[in-house]
Amino acid sequence: MKPKIWLSSPHMSGLEQTYIKEAFDTNWVAPLGPNVNGFEKDLQDYLKEDRHVAALASGTAALHLSLILLGVSQGDEVICQSKTFSASANPIVYQGATPVFVDSETDTWNMCPDLLEEAIKDRILKGKTPKAIIAVHLYGMPYKADEIHAVAKSYNIPVIEDSAESLGSHYKGQNCGTFGDLAILSFNGNKIITTSGGGAIVTKTAEEKEKAVFLSTQARDNAPHYQHSHIGYNYRMSNIVAGIGRGQMTILDSHVAKRRANHELYRSTFENISNITFLNEPEGHFSNRWLSCILLDSKETREGLRLALEKENIESRPLWKPMHQQPIFKDAPSYLNGVSDDLFDRGLCLPSGSNLSDEELNRVISAINMYFAV
Ligand SMILES: *Cc1c(COP(=O)(O)O)cnc(C)c1O
Repeated sequence: MKPKIWLSSPHMSGLEQTYIKEAFDTNWVAPLGPNVNGFEKDLQDYLKEDRHVAALASGTAALHLSLILLGVSQGDEVICQSKTFSASANPIVYQGATPVFVDSETDTWNMCPDLLEEAIKDRILKGKTPKAIIAVHLYGMPYKADEIHAVAKSYNIPVIEDSAESLGSHYKGQNCGTFGDLAILSFNGNKIITTSGGGAIVTKTAEEKEKAVFLSTQARDNAPHYQHSHIGYNYRMSNIVAGIGRGQMTILDSHVAKRRANHELYRSTFENISNITFLNEPEGHFSNRWLSCILLDSKETREGLRLALEKENIESRPLWKPMHQQPIFKDAPSYLNGVSDDLFDRGLCLPSGSNLSDEELNRVISAINMYFAV
């Protein structure tokens, strides 16, 4: 059996161990410490726009705290992009609120601004103004930020920007992770940079960051004993994990460049296979191409290709199954146009890691060429 080629695997710079060793040498092994502050500063400097970053245990934790900061509670409704990973939507349920799913548009595969407005109008008509909107830059492709935020603003609804897959992407020159009233990042094992597991919340004010840190460290009031007037969470990132993050920040841009090069290689190689199409970057959209995705001409071709790759020990995966199709969300209100269903049927993510060798890429390309008998 040939060695496995993964969709997206961790890729270290070498500096991670220096920061971790420093933490050991100075005994900053307890949760907080200089790597946490350093990693947060690195992220703030990278994102720009005067944002504040709090490093947390995961992107999911960051989404949960975002909903809490926006006051989402029992009985509220929160609009969420249907085409996404379940972690975008699960925290809505943690808060006892109801997700309302909105379908995608074909230009970016992200939330359709027109359908968003239709959904808001209908929810208001049915008696409730949505408390927040969760929009996602899927696979690194920025959503139509101007349009989405204009709709949100006209109904005075805050946006949580799920930037878990889009660190290093930008829209009209502004970095993803700085558009939402609150934004979240993920450093899970398969993301463009990883801390083995981790995430962050991005806020516009120092007060919001402080509140997120307070909630993420068990919500301890200022007293010599343990005093609590809020329910707290154990969601903070540790100083060891943040050391990995500092090492990863030194190579983020080169990871973006490599992932974009993978995408361009697939695109130029498969130009003449009419069964395969790609998602183009619309004007002003710069994608980190976290995952290279292709669309096939039918569900049958997609599944046939996936199995052919599997036979060669190459991992590939259908695009995210929309949330409105998930058993856990079958009763949630949804505003649909068929786009995310079609993408799920015909889309496939190919190996996309920044550590793929030429030999590995060639194996993927040969397997695909063979399937289409080019
Ligand atoms: C990975 C991911 C998350 C969750 O991040 P974790 O750090 O794994 O908790 C949320 N949303 C999207 C779109 C993701 O891809």
